[in-house]
Amino acid sequence: MARLPNVLITGTPGTGKTTTSEQARRCMLIQRGPGQVASATGLRLISVGDWVKEKELHSGWDAEHEAFILDEDKVCDAMEDALSAGGNVVDYHSCDFFPERWFDLVVVLQADNTVLYERLEKRGYPQAKVQENVQCEIMMVLLEEARDSYREEIVVPLTSNTVEEMESNVARITQWVADYRRQHSV
Ligand code: ADP
Ligand code: MN
Repeated sequence: MARLPNVLITGTPGTGKTTTSEQARRCMLIQRGPGQVASATGLRLISVGDWVKEKELHSGWDAEHEAFILDEDKVCDAMEDALSAGGNVVDYHSCDFFPERWFDLVVVLQADNTVLYERLEKRGYPQAKVQENVQCEIMMVLLEEARDSYREEIVVPLTSNTVEEMESNVARITQWVADYRRQHSV
């Protein structure tokens, strides 16, 4: 059965996932296509990190990495109903444990290492965590993970160094959703 698309926004911490997905969702809310009803326009934003904390989808705290130890089964169970129904923008810095069938578009945000370094320092991350994430970005870990986990055609890397690039990315994602809805009549 046709459903609204699910979009995953992934990338190294600090590349702009949360900002981009919040803006993209806001743009999609006002989309109206031919024959589309208002109730079909409300895409849901799922910040997986927030869900892990709020719904306790973890198995404790990892002091070394200063992060919750994600329980992948719990996370996927908690998300299943929403993702099966469609119409979600999902924000998370990993993507290999989600069922492949969930996503219709996988955006991998990328930033230059100097830009990323500054953003993570500003966020107050300890030096080791800044370095680890910058290294992860240089090695393109998230892009490789996305390409290993999803069909090549649906994985789209987008650079997010500047506000202009973010706006252009949001416009692209919004347009992609509009095209999908027209093609699938949803
Ligand atoms: P993530 O969710 O991937 O960790 P955020 O969306 O929280 O990243 O962004 C990290 C910081 O960088 C925020 O302060 C945000 O305002 C800023 N930022 C994100 N994307 C851009 C961009 N394209 N241009 C300028 N600043 C950005
Ligand atoms: Mn975030």
